[in-house]
Order: sequence, then structure tokens, then C-alpha cells
Amino acid sequence: MTSSFPPDPGHDLPVVVIAGRPNVGKSTIFNRLVGRRQALVADTPGVTRDRKESEAVVRGRRIRLIDTAGLEEAAPDTLFGRMRASSESAVGMADLVLFCVDARAGITPADEHFAAWLRRQGRPVLVLANKAEGRQGAAAAMEAFSLGLGAPLAISAEHGEGLADLMGEIADRIPDGPSQARRAPRRREEREEGEEEDTRPPGPLRLAIVGRPNAGKSTLLNRLLGEERMITGPEPGLTRDSVSVMLHDDEGPIQLVDTAGLRRKARIDETLEKMSVSASIEALKMAEVVILTLDATLGVHEQDLQIARLIEREGRCCVLALNKWDAVTDRNVTRQAIRDRIETSLSQMRGIPVVAFSAMTGAGVNKLLPTVRRAYEVWNRRVPTGELNRWFEMMVSRHPPPLVQGRRLKLRYITQAKSRPPTFILFGTRTEQMPEDYQRYLVNGLREEFDLPGTPIRLLLRGSN
Ligand code: GDP
Ligand code: GDP
Repeated sequence: MTSSFPPDPGHDLPVVVIAGRPNVGKSTIFNRLVGRRQALVADTPGVTRDRKESEAVVRGRRIRLIDTAGLEEAAPDTLFGRMRASSESAVGMADLVLFCVDARAGITPADEHFAAWLRRQGRPVLVLANKAEGRQGAAAAMEAFSLGLGAPLAISAEHGEGLADLMGEIADRIPDGPSQARRAPRRREEREEGEEEDTRPPGPLRLAIVGRPNAGKSTLLNRLLGEERMITGPEPGLTRDSVSVMLHDDEGPIQLVDTAGLRRKARIDETLEKMSVSASIEALKMAEVVILTLDATLGVHEQDLQIARLIEREGRCCVLALNKWDAVTDRNVTRQAIRDRIETSLSQMRGIPVVAFSAMTGAGVNKLLPTVRRAYEVWNRRVPTGELNRWFEMMVSRHPPPLVQGRRLKLRYITQAKSRPPTFILFGTRTEQMPEDYQRYLVNGLREEFDLPGTPIRLLLRGSN
């Protein structure tokens, strides 16, 4: 069927195919993407009569867009059979398949069958959870993770929501230049389910230094910068610091955010302590990695824990810096005591990377940025779905989920929805009733098995009742 397409000028363009059940919104998406550019519709009688096809432009790139809607009628009698028959030839030449589901209706057995078939075709697939408008939309869209085709994109074609993201995703996924699909083997090595490419935004790692007043943050910053860019000491307003400064290490640029926050000393109406927490909040929001700086001679204070909790709540990646190490006498005891206090107060900080140094003398500071880089890697890590589920089965058979109101929770499937911080979704029945200690059992297990020390881990529970 592919060969009988008329040779029109659009035929070297990357091919994007919209597939899915009837009524999920394929035509609406097609029309949105095509906009007014209805040129080059291939309507050769007999061959492509029922296939809506058009050239479209996304982010300045021309694509050939094919809508498989309306082909269902002529095909075999089961719904999946019709979906498959209508899509087969189109999917066979796709550079990207937009697999559309209805976020409101949820995932149906036909969707699941079709997803399983799609996975075997070895074509790049982006799952679109359409009809995801409004506040519940994103949550409903989450269910589409269970298709094992990577992160779904929540959109509302009718309301025009998420279309800019959709165009961006398409532009990122289609090949540069002419279509690759007809050259690519039909069954490419399958990527592990749910595993995705590195979606890290390019650019510098964003780092914040937070901690209580006098912990030595400014001294540390000066040390990292290798010059007296900031003046340390009690006098406020001595320098007008830029809001962020750039550092470079072996691996590239690092942007230190909100360095001005370091200089904001307490105002008269604020206690020093309160001040350090509010300044931390601002810095945290801008940062990816946070260095929580302690004065090691003073041990851990409630204020430090409060900041640590904020870091955890914001899902940031944390490195614990024990400063003024030059003034610490019993170093092993001190290090262990501080680590214990942090880890017992905050289970999510288990295995947190700790670096001890003296910002004043510079001793040990060279370990700090490599530790930041490693922590950042962990925070960005993705666990393949296959591995995850093998581990998951082992965990569940070792400790079956508890009875809730006399009924056992059914746990089916786990997938990593995103990184930064690592976020997992667990599917099953009545999962939302899972007791906290069982959740902790799973989170601690994830941390150990997949080597995710010191990063917040999110476990989201999805299930029917
Ligand atoms: P197709 O059969 O997959 O091509 O689906 P259509 O594009 O014809 O859409 C089916 C129905 O869903 C129509 O009534 C659309 O108006 C509706 N629809 C499409 N997109 C959305 C959306 O984002 N939100 C809602 N609520 N309805 C939508
Ligand atoms: P900030 O309020 O967190 O920015 O702390 P500063 O950098 O202004 O440092 C507070 C005080 O601690 C200053 O008097 C520094 O000289 C001192 N200090 C900073 N780092 C060290 C260190 O590594 N060892 C010792 N002994 N003192 C330090």
C-alpha cells in the first residue's frame, strides 16, 4: 500500500501518523496541527480516499501528517482489529506515531492491545492523552503511563491546551531532513518499556548554597569562585552581588543561583533564624542541586532540619556540606552524629552525600563539585521499566501488601514517570489505601536496589477501587 501513494513533493518529508480508537480526538488533533495549511492533501481516488493527509509545519519544520480516523469501518470486526488494520500501513511508514487516547474515558482494553502491537512495530511513539482539559486533566492523563510507551503528553485538542508542547515534542522527535522510516528496519531493537531518552534541559547545572547564618556560605562561595567577589562578614550591603554567578568545572558550567540571597542579612523585624529559612526557599526554587551548609562545630540544629525538609518537599537534590572542618577535633564522631541526625529526622535523606571541608583554608573543598555532579546524576537517573518490575515482583512476593479492611491490595505494575526527582507510579487496585509503612518499604527498596541515595523519591499510587 505504501508504494501506491502518489509521488507528490511532500513524500520525502518526515511522516507523522495519528492513530488511536475512534472518537478519541484524532481528527481534532489533525486539524489543530494542520491549521489552515490544508495544501497538498492527497486525495487520489481509490488509494488514499479515506486517509486524511496533509502537510503541516511544526516549529518551522515541514511534516507529512496522516490521520487514520475514518478507516475503521472497512476493517475486521473487533475494535482492535479495526484500529490495527486502519493503521498498519500508515504506521509502517511513520517516523513518529502519535498514539491518541481519551484521558477522560481512561485506558480501555482496545488501547492496551493496540499499544502492545505498536510496541512491536519499533516506531517512535508519543502517547497523547487527549481531552485532558481542566484541573483533573493531568491526573487522568497519568493513567496512560501504564501503556508502557513512555510519558504521555496531556493535551486538549478541542480547547487548544498543550499544543505548543505537542509541536515541540514532534519537532524534537522527527528526523532532520527526509523521512527515515522507509529506510529503517521495521522492527528496530525495542527500547525498554517506559524508558525514555535523556530529557534534561541543556545548559548549566543550577546550584544553590543554603544554610543558617554564619555557616560559612559566603566564604564557601568565595572559595569556589577563587576570588573575593563577595565580602564576608557581618556588615550588610557591602557588595552588590549579581543574582547568579557562573562557575566552571571539568564537566561544564555551573550556575550559582541567588547568591544575592546569601547577602541578605536579617532585617530588624526578622530573626536571623527565620531569615535563613525564607532566603533558602527562594534559592531552592531556582536550583536543581542544593548545598546545605552546616557549621560542623555546632552540629545539627532544628533550623537545619527545617531547611532540609524544604529541600525534600521541593524535590531538589541535596549535598550536605560540613564546613569549618578545620575547627572540628573528633572528626569521625562528628561526621557520624550529623549524618545520623539528618537521616533519622528525614528518611528521604538516607544516603545523602556528605562532604566535609574548610571553606576558610580551602582544605577538602575540591571534593564538593564532583559530589554535586554525582548527586545530580542520581537525581536524573531513570530505571528501565522491565528491571523495575522484576524487582517489584520480588518485593511483593517477599512481603505481600497488607490487608486493608479485610481485602488485599492488588499491585500490578510500576513505572518511572519522571526523574528530577525520581518519580514512580504504582498501578493496582485500591492502591490509595496502601499503609504508609508499606510505601516506605517500597521507597527504601527502590533507593537501595537502584542506587538512589540521598534523593527525594516520589511514589504515586494509581488504581481503581
Ligand atoms: P476521532 O474519531 O479520533 O478522529 O475523534 P474526533 O476528532 O472526531 O473527536 C471525537 C469527539 O471528541 C468530538 O466530539 C470532538 O469534539 C471531541 N474532542 C476532541 N478533542 C477533545 C478535547 O480535547 N476535549 C474534549 N472534551 N473533547 C474533544
Ligand atoms: P554566611 O553567613 O553563611 O555567609 O557565613 P560567612 O561566610 O559570612 O562566615 C561566617 C563566619 O564563619 C566568618 O567569620 C567566617 O570567617 C567563618 N568561617 C567560614 N568558613 C569557615 C571555616 O571553614 N572554618 C572556620 N574556622 N571559620 C569559617
